[in-house]
Amino acid sequence: MKEFKHFINGEYVASASGKTFENRSPVDNSLIGQVHEAGEAEVDAAVRAAKAALKGPWSKLTQNQRAAMLNKIADRINERFDEFLAAECLDTGKPRSMASHIDIPRGAANFKEFADSMNHPTEGFRMDTPDGTGAVNVGHRTPKGVIAVVSPWNLPLLLMTFKVGPALACGNTVVVKPSEETPATATLLGEVMNECGVPPGVFNVVHGFGPDSAGAFLTSHPLVDAITFTGETRTGEIIMKAAAVGLRNVSMECGGKNPGLVFADCDLEKAVEGTMRSAFVNCGQVCLGTERVYVERSIFDQFLARMKEEVAKLKLGRPEDPDANFGPLVSLEHRDKVKSYYDLAREEGATVEIGGGIPDMGAELNDGAWIEPTIWTGLPEDARVIREEIFGPCCHIRPFDTEEEAIELANDTSYGLACAIWTENSARALRVAEQMEVGLAWVNSWFLRDLRTSFGGAKQSGIGREGGVHGLEFYTETKNICIKL
Ligand code: NAD
Repeated sequence: MKEFKHFINGEYVASASGKTFENRSPVDNSLIGQVHEAGEAEVDAAVRAAKAALKGPWSKLTQNQRAAMLNKIADRINERFDEFLAAECLDTGKPRSMASHIDIPRGAANFKEFADSMNHPTEGFRMDTPDGTGAVNVGHRTPKGVIAVVSPWNLPLLLMTFKVGPALACGNTVVVKPSEETPATATLLGEVMNECGVPPGVFNVVHGFGPDSAGAFLTSHPLVDAITFTGETRTGEIIMKAAAVGLRNVSMECGGKNPGLVFADCDLEKAVEGTMRSAFVNCGQVCLGTERVYVERSIFDQFLARMKEEVAKLKLGRPEDPDANFGPLVSLEHRDKVKSYYDLAREEGATVEIGGGIPDMGAELNDGAWIEPTIWTGLPEDARVIREEIFGPCCHIRPFDTEEEAIELANDTSYGLACAIWTENSARALRVAEQMEVGLAWVNSWFLRDLRTSFGGAKQSGIGREGGVHGLEFYTETKNICIKL
């Protein structure tokens, strides 16, 4: 039985109240361990430790020393790869084959890739003055301070380090509130921080829920200087209200209802392979995932038939099953939500092309959060299943006739995170991509990420951009120093 404690000021601490909650496996609902729930006292201790650390040895490190430390963290995660992999798979139930290629290596890479974030040209302007001597202006960046990192459960280590990496590279300190569903890898990371000589208080973790719990206590703490959040749009709205008090900066990476646009001039097999991944990888629990697919009418039947063939081949199974490429949803609670959309799709008039229910996984696994990968057709565009984010392994496929119609359908949503465009015509690819109301437009690919590029959503999918120089903007305060000569 595991026990997940908070990591505050370089030490693992239990909640003073003794309050804990259960962490259960989504594979079979077995008990993994008990998680300590932070009250206001633990959150306050973590934030104060982070505040104090801003003035300690951490602040004396040169940029290169800090970068070296971040590289060491990445190396240490890779040395302890199997432990991180086991922890992530236990919490999420996802196939090892996936987590070993995506979650853990990319989670480690976030420390390496962002280590040199501060090595960026400094802004400088020479200006004339009436007396003829002139002045120079120099942009000087300083850390923003204590950053609250509130992260979700779908890619726990990866999405958390995507924020912690650049935040530390820029000299900030952090208090992380991982999702209550996935406490393990954030907790383990505390050990790595100590092993790599990261000063106490620089990296802290508090466990708990959102409202009236660790999440709310952290985001409303007056000593938090900025909040970076990944999660649902509705949660983002609540956190923005908390951040408004004291005028704290926010970075919001929120939900999506992402379209795929498949043109008749695509490479059909590439489009099928890409759409299979974008709709079904991680059991459909990827913010960038495709839940609405629009296919040019002349290839609609062929595309749908190929998708059904591929879905039928998905192999559900335990994380350690080498043949399995499809795990359970993250929790029974989330399965209830996804299943309610499966039921709603039928009520709204969908044709269930494949899936649509809960699979029989056998006695050992039937208590887990399993769900069938599902494809629908025939829904009207105003159906709730088309408009609301489901965050499960499902998509609706619908034909279109013209490029203009495809763009209009794809953009007809309150979200604006990502899209995937499938065409071999590069002029069309750019023309369509430019018109998409999203933060990330992929052409003939999906989830292909160069960490120097911007990441974030338009419309209700987020505020701000992270990645590369965009992260630098968020994680630092820029001061203009004007020197009269
Ligand atoms: P969620 O919003 O329920 O929870 C995210 C985090 O916020 C958790 O740590 C949770 O405990 C915390 N939280 C909840 N209520 C809070 C409150 N009132 N105050 C402070 N913290 C609070 O999201 P989730 O279910 O964990 O994740 C799935 C969602 O995340 C989906 O909507 C998905 O699209 C989105 N997501 C977005 C991105 C992106 O980059 N845009 C990436 C991954 C996931």
